[in-house]
Amino acid sequence: MSLATEAKTLLDQLGVDAALYTGGPMASFSPVTGEQIGALVTDTPATAEAAIARAKVAFKAWREVPAPKRGELVRLLGEELRAAKDALGRLVSIEAGKSPSEGLGEVQEMIDICDFAVGLSRQLYGLTIATERPGHRMMETWHPLGVVGVISAFNFPVAVWSWNTALALVCGNSVIWKPSEKTPLTALASQAILERALARFGAAPADLSQVLIGAGDVGNTLVESHDVALISATGSTRMGRIVGPKVAARFGRSILELGGNNAGIVCPSADLDMALRAVAFGAMGTAGQRCTTMRRLFVHESVYDALVPRLIKAYASVSVGNPLETQALVGPLIDKLAFDAMQSALEAARAAGGKVHGGARASVASNAAYYVHPALVEMPEQTGPVLEETFAPILYVMKYNDFDAVLESHNAVGAGLSSSIFTLDMREMETFLSARGSDCGIANVNIGTSGAEIGGAFGGEKETGGGRESGSDAWKGYMRRATNTINFSRELPLAQGVVFDI
Ligand code: NAD
Repeated sequence: MSLATEAKTLLDQLGVDAALYTGGPMASFSPVTGEQIGALVTDTPATAEAAIARAKVAFKAWREVPAPKRGELVRLLGEELRAAKDALGRLVSIEAGKSPSEGLGEVQEMIDICDFAVGLSRQLYGLTIATERPGHRMMETWHPLGVVGVISAFNFPVAVWSWNTALALVCGNSVIWKPSEKTPLTALASQAILERALARFGAAPADLSQVLIGAGDVGNTLVESHDVALISATGSTRMGRIVGPKVAARFGRSILELGGNNAGIVCPSADLDMALRAVAFGAMGTAGQRCTTMRRLFVHESVYDALVPRLIKAYASVSVGNPLETQALVGPLIDKLAFDAMQSALEAARAAGGKVHGGARASVASNAAYYVHPALVEMPEQTGPVLEETFAPILYVMKYNDFDAVLESHNAVGAGLSSSIFTLDMREMETFLSARGSDCGIANVNIGTSGAEIGGAFGGEKETGGGRESGSDAWKGYMRRATNTINFSRELPLAQGVVFDI
């Protein structure tokens, strides 16, 4: 069966209307073989405007529904996702080129955030605050925000939507999703799954959740609309540089989840077997196409020769190939653009004195698919392409000999998403996690940079955009805060003892 036929079978099974992805102007491809798997009907700025108007109406009704009842909708979404896990996971693998376990893992992440959000729907806690005025009460309350626009990247085609949508819905907002133009089919499938939950729920307003299919121009309509209270945008720093200022210019709120240039540090006391496995997964897994992929590795000179030759061997022997038909650990790049960007980065690394191991195109059945042998590059220093994120499996390896200096180097890049240290030395570990350690939103010890759980807040600093999604108190980004002071006395004392007698 061709992947196009299999994708159609899965989409039918998931309840997606074939008219949405056949005969339209936007082609979508599977990176696994390069074959076309959809021809999508697209939105325009005008249809996006109309969707925003509908979402505004939906918001006004949904904000009145008590939060625990809103949680019931998300509970049903979790149930529907459980029922659809195999089909949606397989579709993720076909459309994004992930291995079967990663495709299923992505759907599991959606289920996990639903469970989290259901609990949260009874815990949108405010505060009671001590007031200096007698006979007064002061409190902080949280209210729904409005229409939430979600713009997502190709590499987590559905999980990012669920992180945002599960929280946005329990927080009382309506949602409009502009998925990546490279992975629109899984978006249609996720929307169909949510529609089943909405039908079972019964009492939700129409258009509570909508999907817009298209490229950046359609996303831009959300970005520029004064009626979209929050833009949660996941993608490249290049995209964030455009989107962030536009949202700020209209005083909208944004959650920016942008690129990473994540590093690991391997210290003298590290468990090298563990570091080897963690680095291999963190740097080569998902063909280097995770925002948290490990891209830089600093190895102490005393353990360099014990670790790096083993890593080079692992790079040379790792299986590359069709993730749907083989047990290959490294699947395809998303497209030719990604392949070209990888080759240019390797060229620049060579020019800067790097010694490149691997990196060539791997031969597979189809010429239209782009598979590569992951590249490990021994660099004399952190320079040139090492300072930037290239969204492909390239790991730059550098030697260090001074702990304070390596912390400086670690933080001396634009991005600030994820980081890790491999050490059994308590001083090194605690320093790495301290105020003068890693400057990233995620800092790990003795595990790699990727593979976060939904319970923690996810996101990073600096050019990663500063946004936080998923667990912890990230929900506060989807609500507005009000401070309320209530006078139940017969007097009108003014704060700070100010006198104003009339
Ligand atoms: P991309 O920036 O090319 O596209 C991301 C999304 O932004 C797409 O939906 C695209 O249509 C939209 N977009 C692009 N320009 C726009 C504009 N001017 N206005 C509105 N929307 C616009 O990113 P990609 O190639 O799909 O994904 C890879 C990138 O995403 C990497 O840099 C990766 O690190 C990053 N990423 C970050 C996170 C995170 O949580 N920090 C998670 C996943 C991916």
